Amino acid sequence: MTENWRTLKAAHGGRPTAGVLKADGYGTGAAQAAAALHAAGCRHFFTAHLAEALAVRALIPGAMLAALNGLLPGIEADHVAHDVVPVLGSLAEIRLWAAQAARTGKKLPALLHVDTGLARLGLEASEVAALADDPGLLAGIDVLYVMTHLVAADEPDLPIHQGQAARFAVACQQLPPAPRSLANSAGIFLGEAFRSDLARPGAALYGINPTADENNPMRPVARLTARVLQVRAVAAGASVGYNATWHAGRDSRIAVVGVGYADGFPRALSNRGAASFDGVRLPLVGRVSMDLSAYDVTDHPGIAPGDWLELLGPQRSLAAVAAEAGASPYEILTRLGRRYARVWHA
Ligand SMILES: *Cc1c(COP(=O)(O)O)cnc(C)c1O
Repeated sequence: MTENWRTLKAAHGGRPTAGVLKADGYGTGAAQAAAALHAAGCRHFFTAHLAEALAVRALIPGAMLAALNGLLPGIEADHVAHDVVPVLGSLAEIRLWAAQAARTGKKLPALLHVDTGLARLGLEASEVAALADDPGLLAGIDVLYVMTHLVAADEPDLPIHQGQAARFAVACQQLPPAPRSLANSAGIFLGEAFRSDLARPGAALYGINPTADENNPMRPVARLTARVLQVRAVAAGASVGYNATWHAGRDSRIAVVGVGYADGFPRALSNRGAASFDGVRLPLVGRVSMDLSAYDVTDHPGIAPGDWLELLGPQRSLAAVAAEAGASPYEILTRLGRRYARVWHA
């Protein structure tokens, strides 16, 4: 994971590169990710929510920690007390933070989020214009960065990026001078124009491919293995699993493991997914149950109860599992369940 961070920082021209920790470190464990990145020298972190930030604040002393989802009325004092920087994305949020600064009697740090096309969070062009007309609106606010977020950085050939970069440049000229933050994981690979004073990669830290290239420059981070509970004989013509969606075409041997959709292992993998054993692909047969899934091991008589099958990892890439599930690799990772025994390696 820290190796991926170093790779991303190098791809960002050695410029400052944050670590995005939202969604429990994309399902892998935010606390472990925060500590490892901090030890590697990362000094800027993002979560989505204040609560996520509070859970890691003590682990990353001295580092900037910002909550992307913005400021809600009533949580300003918690932001101040715990040194969590809000990412302000509307005039209303700016007013809340300025009022908090006035109450506190000192300047308070914030990031300003400008919307340049995603239409999700962030200041609209008219709001940026209002700030340009009345800089007093930002009184008491120490703008650490002006940032925006790319719509489709994972599709490098689209013309949309240049428009966003241009709108971002215009907004930055209207706002008080401040460092800029632009690229997410995939944005780092869009080239020089998308480098900034602070990149904000999340996905690629955790092994998701940030390039359109099939060869992933990132190292896989999560590996999911599960033990075979039973190996059962299923006669030709008999079915496996709920609703009998798979029938054995021949006398078969079926390995059952204790991983199901309650573990975030998508039900959409029913009759489509696979496990891997010693580099061999074992097709997932029947429906994924809540707590169980089944694999055809007919051609691999050596597989026995207690053996470990890989469900995600070097042999079962996130990209492959996501494609089979009709999901995004982000979903596969962030849904990794709470029942797994987790072992972290730096
Ligand atoms: C999630 C997020 C990121 C990180 O995006 P990845 O594609 O996971 O690298 C960066 N910036 C913002 C505003 C985000 O919401």
